[in-house]
Amino acid sequence: MSNLNEAARLIKKAGKILVLTGAGMSTESGLKDFRSKDGLYSNHYRGHSPETILSAGFFRRDTRTFYDYVGEKLNVTGIEPNKGHRILASWEDTMDLSVITQNIDGLHQKAGSKRVLEIHGTLATTTCTRCGERRLLEEVLDDGYEHSCGGVFKPDVVLYDEAVDKIEEAFGMAEKADLLIILGTSLYVYPVASIPEVYGISTKKAIIVNRDQTRYSMHVNALEFNESISATLEKLDHLIHE
Ligand SMILES: [Zn+2]
Repeated sequence: MSNLNEAARLIKKAGKILVLTGAGMSTESGLKDFRSKDGLYSNHYRGHSPETILSAGFFRRDTRTFYDYVGEKLNVTGIEPNKGHRILASWEDTMDLSVITQNIDGLHQKAGSKRVLEIHGTLATTTCTRCGERRLLEEVLDDGYEHSCGGVFKPDVVLYDEAVDKIEEAFGMAEKADLLIILGTSLYVYPVASIPEVYGISTKKAIIVNRDQTRYSMHVNALEFNESISATLEKLDHLIHE
């Protein structure tokens, strides 16, 4: 049996599927990968590294530059989900499937996925630091980040010096899953990189699709495809519905 057929068989017979997605999922929609060689992190902005700008400390010190950067470099208005996002959303109709994403672009929800845990939060919305009112990022970029209450609107995203407080929920989902599908992440950044171990990859199968090899390329329980996510999911979708 080819690896692709084996992957389709695993998906068909799985009870509870957990999909973990990273930057590679969004690059196929035209978004730049933060960490790749020509990605956003290679470029400083007004003398600051992106990691510096995207920290809570910098947000407090220089909210203006923070929002200039977000508006110029991270604004995802107009970016559409790709075929891979749409196939995952369609699988949710007939399968017990949840998504944990490291992406902050909201593309899974835009494609129609309902069970999505955004482990690093979302850039789509903001919350006032003083009164808690919520506002869309688009509105804040247009109308300004200062609120009439005296507070400022802060994106609902986990910044670099902030804790990933949804990780326990993610680990709980991983423990309960009986199939893990990993898309577009090479699993080098913790705590998300712990998810395969928490899931139990030593005794349970995982399907991985990532352009580059991952830490699990040689793992006995991993079926890894170093190919396009959309193209691979499309092939799997055909096999599942045969
Ligand atoms: Zn307020």
